[in-house]
Amino acid sequence: MLLGGIDAGGTTINCAVAEYSSSKPNILEHNKISTGSPVETMSKILRFFESKKIDALGIACFGPVDLNTNSATYGYITTTPKLNWRDFNIVGHLKNEIKGPVGFDTDVNGAALAELKWGCAQSVKSCVYLTVGTGIGGGAIVGNKLVHGLLHPEMGHVIVRRHPKDDFQGICPNHGDCLEGLSSGLAIEKRTGMKGEELRDKSATTWIIISNYLAQAVVNYILVLSPQKVILGGGVMKHEHLFPIIRKDVKQLLNSYLLKDELLDGINDYIVYPGLGEDAGLFGGFALAIEALKNETKQ
Ligand code: ZN
Repeated sequence: MLLGGIDAGGTTINCAVAEYSSSKPNILEHNKISTGSPVETMSKILRFFESKKIDALGIACFGPVDLNTNSATYGYITTTPKLNWRDFNIVGHLKNEIKGPVGFDTDVNGAALAELKWGCAQSVKSCVYLTVGTGIGGGAIVGNKLVHGLLHPEMGHVIVRRHPKDDFQGICPNHGDCLEGLSSGLAIEKRTGMKGEELRDKSATTWIIISNYLAQAVVNYILVLSPQKVILGGGVMKHEHLFPIIRKDVKQLLNSYLLKDELLDGINDYIVYPGLGEDAGLFGGFALAIEALKNETKQ
């Protein structure tokens, strides 16, 4: 059985076909498409899947998106700052051309599901997946179920307490100094004039400040969702030296309030880089394709 997976990001769209397996799907073919206008991008995606005969497709998509299957705009990308993708019916466009069920969720919910199935959260039932890249987004699974509700989690836009040494205004168009406005890759670039990957000085104050904001956000997710694993991925988190700072700040902020070993001596295995690395989003697509197949057989 063949699965199609799409990890649709704001700058790149990863498309791949994989063979279904009882363990991790085995990728047979993979293509990276840069995210241009919807018409041009969709035709490239369809050209890739055209002759592949996939049995199901999963789309892990940048958001916000409409996930309510009873809504007239289910499957749409909604209020994205990428204006030409606003109110675009991505599921509708693909469903018309592809046989088999189509699964759909946010990129980060998809990645959380993939980490639970095949990555570093296989032994648990609840996890948070946060991506810190150009923007910041988070997905969550609680009791083996993806968190959906009024909309879906938007963990990148939580409010954090200002670091005493930070006078940066923040760049979120809606909130200014929310987590994303202060700590995303784009915020790092605005703060330093350098892209995150170019900022090599590990002791730079910027790293101390943004790690503190990320730790504050992680503490909030821990207090609200009680995850058994917190996974931090995305381009910014490739800087491994951020993990010890974030873990230390999380411990300090919790201040022995939650006496669980995972948050004390076990914290190195609790706040971790994705087990699937940069492919977490793409495997999110495969995980959503498998969910769509399961839902179809239930109906
Ligand atoms: Zn915001």
